[in-house]
Amino acid sequence: VTVVALRERAPNERRVALSPEVAKKLKALGAQVVIEAGAGSGANQPDGIFPDVEVEATAAAALARADVLLAVQPPSLDTIAGLREGSIVIGFMQPHADPERVKALRDRKITSFAMELLPRTTRAQAMDVLSSQAGMAGYKAVLIAAELSGKFFPMLTTAAGTIRPSKVLIVGAGVAGLQAIATARRLGAQVEGFDVRPETREQIESLGAKFLDLGVSAAGSGGYARELTAEERAEQQQRLANHLKNIDAVVTTAAVPGRPAPKILTAAMVEGMKPGAVVVDLAAETGGNCELTRPGETFVHNAVTLAGPLNLPSMGAIHSSEMYARNLFNFLALSLNEGELVLDWEDELIAQTCLTHAGRIRHEATRQKIE
Ligand code: NAD
Repeated sequence: VTVVALRERAPNERRVALSPEVAKKLKALGAQVVIEAGAGSGANQPDGIFPDVEVEATAAAALARADVLLAVQPPSLDTIAGLREGSIVIGFMQPHADPERVKALRDRKITSFAMELLPRTTRAQAMDVLSSQAGMAGYKAVLIAAELSGKFFPMLTTAAGTIRPSKVLIVGAGVAGLQAIATARRLGAQVEGFDVRPETREQIESLGAKFLDLGVSAAGSGGYARELTAEERAEQQQRLANHLKNIDAVVTTAAVPGRPAPKILTAAMVEGMKPGAVVVDLAAETGGNCELTRPGETFVHNAVTLAGPLNLPSMGAIHSSEMYARNLFNFLALSLNEGELVLDWEDELIAQTCLTHAGRIRHEATRQKIE
């Protein structure tokens, strides 16, 4: 089989779905690897860094050879039109975002795997792109907070006196939040975290941070949080508002699967924060955890700096790509045997991650929405 990676074309997308290591592993499994010239340029990875790959000058030439296309962002309609019937594409597909794309994948009889649909089971961990990319997002969000802050994060004892460490609060302790906590700790801040899933207390404390108990527990199904009731939300907000008065930087990472980001920080809470405080809203992409967030913008409101950065994983494009490519490789390896592709539809990872196949939309929720 021939596996292809293109230069990503979405604005601000610097990642690439292939790494030198994965190119080598694919070869070892008997696959041919083809890249579009400049495929890794967004991540400053020149073509020559990928061992033993063939380079095609244009996306169209690379696509025409693809049995499997590895992608970061969902393929454009042009890309789908350039793929051969029956070929496979693996990457983020955002099935809810664009019905036209899903229809095009269906009508071109492309087998598409939407990595965001991958079941989050133990066996799937090595393929879990949501987790690998969330780690980078949490890390970068804290660096942005430190950058925007007019304060040191660590405690300093200097000839000009002692500087007290910044107080940093991380809201939501999933994969991104825990990485944010670890990063803020490494920068020397005094860190607190909270989440509505009670098991996060131990995880937060094991990173040397303090668990902020807001008296609300809302474990949902599948290890995820559920949406709070109006009463729970009011309780959480009242306690949080008080606590925020003392905080120098907040990084919010809260999400509930399939729902818009929960609004946790109100305008009044932000207005009650200390002058010079910073809020970095990692949930900006899905509407934000803070009422004031403007996705993609950084601005000052009432002497508090608010940032709603988009596509944080792309900001760490080398390591994000390395982990992402490894995730896709582990997924593709389920179906690769001595250079031959065989899809095992009995395997839940294959069956549940599949968005379209053989002219059908296989993901039920998407099919019902579109057909
Ligand atoms: P996520 O991105 O859906 O949510 C981020 C965090 O926000 C979660 O911890 C959630 O509890 C929290 N949250 C939601 N509403 C909140 C509110 N109102 N206030 C405060 N916090 C709120 O979650 P995620 O990071 O993708 O992972 C969630 C869980 O799934 C974690 O326990 C993670 O370890 C687990 N997980 C398991 C696997 C696996 O076993 N393969 C893989 C990935 C994640």
